[in-house]
Amino acid sequence: MAEMDLCSMYLTELEALFAAWSEPKFRAKQVFSWLSRGARPCEMTNLPRALRERLETLTFGSAVLYDKRISQKDGTAKHLFELEDKNLVEGVLMRYRYGNTLCISTQVGCKMGCAFCASTLEGCVRNLTAGEMLGFLSAVERDEGRGEGHGRAVTNVVLMGSGEPLDNYDNVVRFLRLVSDKDGKNISPRNISLSTCGLVPEIYRFIEEAPHVTLSVSLHAPNDALRDKLMPINRRYPVAALLEAANAYALKTGRRVVFEYALIGGLNDGRIHADELSDRVRGINCHVNLIPLNPVPERGLEGVTRERAEAFAAWLSRRGVSATVRREMGTDIEGACGQLRRRVLKEITAEAETQGKGAGQ
Ligand code: SAH
Repeated sequence: MAEMDLCSMYLTELEALFAAWSEPKFRAKQVFSWLSRGARPCEMTNLPRALRERLETLTFGSAVLYDKRISQKDGTAKHLFELEDKNLVEGVLMRYRYGNTLCISTQVGCKMGCAFCASTLEGCVRNLTAGEMLGFLSAVERDEGRGEGHGRAVTNVVLMGSGEPLDNYDNVVRFLRLVSDKDGKNISPRNISLSTCGLVPEIYRFIEEAPHVTLSVSLHAPNDALRDKLMPINRRYPVAALLEAANAYALKTGRRVVFEYALIGGLNDGRIHADELSDRVRGINCHVNLIPLNPVPERGLEGVTRERAEAFAAWLSRRGVSATVRREMGTDIEGACGQLRRRVLKEITAEAETQGKGAGQ
C-alpha cells in the first residue's frame, strides 16, 4: 500500500499498520477514535510516548480552520479551511431546528465548468483526501466547543461544496465509509447527501459500492438543448441517461432522489420548463429542490424572486411532482459555492502585491 495520510485510514488499515509495528491491536481503535475527533498524535494522551512519536513521522493529512464568517441574518457560518499544502477550501455550517448541517467541499476548485458556478472559474487544483474532508468536520466541532460528550455540533453532512464528488470517487467513498463508521464519527448515511452534476457511470458504481446516502442530482434544465448550455457534462451524459441512472439509484436504495434546479431568470424558470420537467421526472421516486440562483457577478446570470420560485414549485406540484423552494441561507456571507474562497484569495493576492511594492506593513 502506498503510504497514506493518517486521517484517511480505515480502522482495519490502522490495525494492519500496528501489527507491522508490533503494537497491540486495541491501540488502533484508540487512535482511530482520537483521529475522528481531530486530535493530533501529541494529544493522544492514552498512548505510550514512543507510539505518539512514531505516529508523528507519518503525514497527518487534515485541515485547520483559517477563517470564519457568520451570517447576521440566520447564523449560518461559512468556514475557510487551510490544508497542509496551504490550499484553501470552503465549508458552510447551516443551523436548523433539528440539527446542524455541514456542507463540505470535495475538491480544491472544480473542472466541470457549469455556467453559473464560482467554484469552477479557475479549474480544479486537486482532489481532497478523505482525511481532509473528515478534518473539516473535526475542525468545526472543535470550533463549536463540542464533539466530546456535549452533543454533536454536526448532525448532517452534505457533499455540496466546491468540486464534483464523483470526479473524486475513491476519496469520497472512503470518506463516506469513515464518517459513518460506528467507531468513528458514526453519522448515519441517512443523514448524508451527495450532490453530483451527473457523472452517469460513477452513479452506477456508487449504487453498488457506497453507503446508501441521499443522492442529489443537479439537473437545472429539463432538456438537452438548455442543459448543454449550462452544464458541459451534459454533452457527455445527456438528460435521459442521467434520469435513468437517478431512477436506478432510487429503485436500488429505496431512497428518494433529489433533483436540484437552480432557477435562472428568463432562462429555465418558465411555465413551459416546469411542464417539461414534471413530464420527465414524474415516474421517478423524487423530490425537486428549487434554488433561486445565487448570482455570481463574473457569470452574468440572474436569479428569480421568491414569488417566481414558489410559482414554479406550484406548477410542478399540480402536475404530481413534489417540489419545494430551498431556504436561502448565508446570502450575506457569500454562501454560493466558491465565492468566499475567491474573495479571500483575491484579498491575499492584493495584500501580497501591496507588500511587494513596499506599501504595506
Ligand atoms: N458538483 C456537485 C456539487 C457541488 S454544488 C454538483 O454539481 O451537484 C452544489 C449545488 O449548488 C449544485 O446543485 C450546483 O449546481 C449549485 N450551484 C452552484 N452555483 C450556484 C449558484 N450560483 N446559485 C445556486 N446554485 C448553485
